[in-house]
Amino acid sequence: MTYYSYHTHTSYCDGKAKAEAFIKRAIELQMKAVGFSSHAPFPIEVCWNMDEDQLMNYVNEIKSLSVKYQEDIDVYLSLELDYIPGITKPFAQMKEACSLDYTIGSVHLIKSPIENEFLFLDGPDTNYTHGLECFYQGDIKKMVRDYYAQINEMIIQEKPDIIGHIDKIKMNNKGRYFSEDEKWYQDLLNETIDVIKETDCIVEINTRGLYTKKSKLFYPDLNFAKECKKNQIPVTISTDAHHPDELLLYFNEAAEMLKESGYDSVLIYDKAEWVNVGI
Ligand SMILES: [Zn+2]
Ligand SMILES: [Zn+2]
Repeated sequence: MTYYSYHTHTSYCDGKAKAEAFIKRAIELQMKAVGFSSHAPFPIEVCWNMDEDQLMNYVNEIKSLSVKYQEDIDVYLSLELDYIPGITKPFAQMKEACSLDYTIGSVHLIKSPIENEFLFLDGPDTNYTHGLECFYQGDIKKMVRDYYAQINEMIIQEKPDIIGHIDKIKMNNKGRYFSEDEKWYQDLLNETIDVIKETDCIVEINTRGLYTKKSKLFYPDLNFAKECKKNQIPVTISTDAHHPDELLLYFNEAAEMLKESGYDSVLIYDKAEWVNVGI
């Protein structure tokens, strides 16, 4: 198995260690590559992204580490870019300004029907329940539809190289408000797959929910992966590590799940292009 981590957070955002500590651990683990993807800055006050004035320090630090460790491991520079309509900068502009190797696009903040109110779907579930009641009057279908509409818009407009934890909206649901088996929900997933298949975007299988015990399933899990396979959508595995000890947690299990869904390879980033490698 080729081990790698393209979705990795440092102490520039809510990661718990400096980039170099991740690299040293990744070398010990005999990983092929580590790519850094701290949460990019954007003009909404949150506690988990990078400050705008730190962006170039981050870029320069990762670039110099990639040179320092070039004999031992491939080090790549990326950002996990939030897509918030009308708020965030175009991904292509960020990619160019920071010379990113690749981009990860994610939705953590849903633009709600109430002006200037955003629903934070990650973190403690109080954000989720509060947003559902205050911004959506408890209408879970509308809230989930808004989430997938924002995901679809991101894919079409921004074309990230990797789509981050595509169904993370399920995390704080905890089986309370909807079941993923319901037709309306499945229809939304199928619509999103139809959008993805018109692009070159890669779907990541994100393992973080399992090791933080916030989800019993990968983002996304087996059924979604099977649909991706049917539609020839490329996939990769991300642990979304926020600490060096998390670098490969549930990586093997994600590979097994992908095999079960019919995949025999994933995409890895090798120098300047995405290439298939067997699992
Ligand atoms: Zn994320
Ligand atoms: Zn992340």
